[in-house]
Amino acid sequence: MQEEMTEYAFRQKLVAASLRLVELGLNRGAAGNLSLRHGKHFLITPSALLPEAMHPEDMVLMDFSGKVVTGERPSSEWRFHRDILASRPEIGSVVHVHSPFATTLACLGREVPPFHYMIAAAGGTSIRCAPYALFGTQALSDHALAALHDRRACLLANHGMIAAGRDLDEALGLAVEVESLCEQYWRALQIGEPNILSDAEMNEVMEKFRGYWRR
Ligand SMILES: [Zn+2]
Repeated sequence: MQEEMTEYAFRQKLVAASLRLVELGLNRGAAGNLSLRHGKHFLITPSALLPEAMHPEDMVLMDFSGKVVTGERPSSEWRFHRDILASRPEIGSVVHVHSPFATTLACLGREVPPFHYMIAAAGGTSIRCAPYALFGTQALSDHALAALHDRRACLLANHGMIAAGRDLDEALGLAVEVESLCEQYWRALQIGEPNILSDAEMNEVMEKFRGYWRR
């Protein structure tokens, strides 16, 4: 009973977060998808359903072999959600969106350098851009996993971005942060070449952030 209530609450959280992404301007239409670890399974938003039309019952429960436990069609990007959650035990939630500024930079195949100290919020001295691969494929998931090595966010070339966190709020917060950083970087590029922080300066920031992320 307790277990079922928790699962239902998780389903509600996914619906609320999907709507929040639209409000924040990070998602339009049915492009984005979100997942949340739930014991030996994970919950993921369904395929091709607008957030406004989503109900908790539409969320799909899957196991880590990729089998649907409850529900119908999971998001076509279930592979990278599964692979990130499976290989990174510290991560409890994954957010994927085609937000405007992150996607603009991703279409240029640009990684985001440490032009601002908040780049460290994504876990390192840059936000990498994973090479292009067809949506929904294992190749895309493999590229995403490599770009996320020692990081909690990355861009996906000609596609969008991924942000992850210990829970849904943290993943959502990081997606917002990454989108703002991409906007700031894009704006700075309109005027010139932004000044890039040194490794020493970024290490100082990461040292300060480490205490926050440490479990
Ligand atoms: Zn996508």
